Amino acid sequence: MSTTTELDQALLPEVVAFLGKAVHHAFVDGDWLEASNGETFDVVDPGSGEKIATVSSLQKADVDKAVDAAARSFADSGWAKMPVAERSAVLHRIADAVEHRKSQFSQIESLDCGKVYSQAEEDVQGFIDTFRYFADLAQTVNYRSVIAVKNHEAWVARHPWGPCGFIIPWNFPILLAGWGLAPALAAGNTCVLKPAEDTPLSALYLCHVIQELDLLPPGVLNVVTGMGETAGAAVAGNPKFRRMSFTGSPEVGRLVAEACGRNLVPVKCELGGKGAAVVFNDVDIAVTADKLVAAITYHTGQVCCDATRWLIQSDIYDKFVGECVDRMQSVKVGYQLDSGTQMGPVVSAVQRKRVLGYLEKGVTDGAELVLKGGVAEVPGKSGFYVKPALLAGSLNNVAAREEIFGPVAFLTPFKSEEDGIRMANDTEYGLGNSVWSQDLARCARVAEAFESGNGWINAHNLIVHGVPYAGIGKSGMGGGVVSPETLNDYLRPISVIRPV
Ligand code: NAD
Repeated sequence: MSTTTELDQALLPEVVAFLGKAVHHAFVDGDWLEASNGETFDVVDPGSGEKIATVSSLQKADVDKAVDAAARSFADSGWAKMPVAERSAVLHRIADAVEHRKSQFSQIESLDCGKVYSQAEEDVQGFIDTFRYFADLAQTVNYRSVIAVKNHEAWVARHPWGPCGFIIPWNFPILLAGWGLAPALAAGNTCVLKPAEDTPLSALYLCHVIQELDLLPPGVLNVVTGMGETAGAAVAGNPKFRRMSFTGSPEVGRLVAEACGRNLVPVKCELGGKGAAVVFNDVDIAVTADKLVAAITYHTGQVCCDATRWLIQSDIYDKFVGECVDRMQSVKVGYQLDSGTQMGPVVSAVQRKRVLGYLEKGVTDGAELVLKGGVAEVPGKSGFYVKPALLAGSLNNVAAREEIFGPVAFLTPFKSEEDGIRMANDTEYGLGNSVWSQDLARCARVAEAFESGNGWINAHNLIVHGVPYAGIGKSGMGGGVVSPETLNDYLRPISVIRPV
């Protein structure tokens, strides 16, 4: 493990104490649960390549215990029947507790994911804001709405569903935990969260804080750590869940959706992306290049909704590419907790191999390597660093069609508005696309013509509480996050009617 003296930003005593635990167990029914067979796995700091924690690797029987705890807690802990104002106050207390420990959460998240510290802080703030948003929204819901129909008395009542499952990936662990848990808890459900095996630490720290401050009845929140094929599959296949939410790759999304389908458990999938930025010739080239380079290097390009295909109107193409190359070359790659670092490592050796592999495959498939990329050396660190890269050419290229999940953009020129829209939509994915122009009428037209869940104007990765965010096609199905629709999804409607 890196010692505090090696870091630009010294680890806080609470973080050192947390990381010092011999084994981090899962959190089930208000207590720490060891894997029944004693199995553990190592968690590595992607910036140093060194082990920072040992975590229990739960088996199916252990996960089943967590789901049983969530079901029992739903039935008898009082959480589901608590007056909504009281439940909302609990969510605000959780947000307060995280806010008071924002630096601790941010350091843990930064170390665990390789995320630049300031970006980890933004994610922790996003968790806090999400809890506050749903705590307040839950108080505005009409839990019993009367329906005016002739000769009948009728109404719809809304109740929580029961135990809800969440399987999340490694790129935004604390933020995605917040996006999943907050609406479900605000509606009175109980939860079982399975973090990714690469990044389980912030969810476990959350449990530690919740337990220490006695913020939730036992069993309302359970965190099951372990491998995808074991603990993840046990979550996906448990028939006692009433809702399931999966965020991750389309490949695993299919497996989870199949398992849920067999049990008729409704499942929402938030999957990968291959977003386009359609840049017209009237933009301020310097400003737009700044924003797109910032987007593709944010969290080292490991962002599902990123702009990974940059479609540039032909008459500004050469100038635009030149400006992007200059900016990408000057991005400072370094250790995630060092001040001045603009781009940290990717999450693992596997992920680095994937990114470098796509550069090779893209060139073999006919793309031009405009900016070479490759392994980045960071003095004194043997983490998983890569340099930003740019490919260019026909979109009929493996690197333009498949999700790379690294700081790599694929450039292509387009002629007309019609071409730009067609090329943006020429993908199996449908998460977030953006249009860039000073002509706002054109922007509105193009943004609405995107075949994706989200159309952004003169910005990318624009996710705001209250505005639905979801994917279509290979990017997802069955709902969305951070909006009133999400909360509604965690409420079970029942129609009641009698003749009068
Ligand atoms: P992944 O699909 O490999 O893993 C996601 C989660 O699924 C992990 O917790 C993993 O342990 C679990 N898992 C793995 N195999 C499983 C199985 N057989 N059954 C049940 N669970 C299993 O994804 P990843 O590599 O962790 O994350 C990257 C992917 O996530 C990218 O495709 C990215 O675009 C996507 N993502 C999407 C969104 C969104 O909002 N649409 C947000 C973040 C990430």
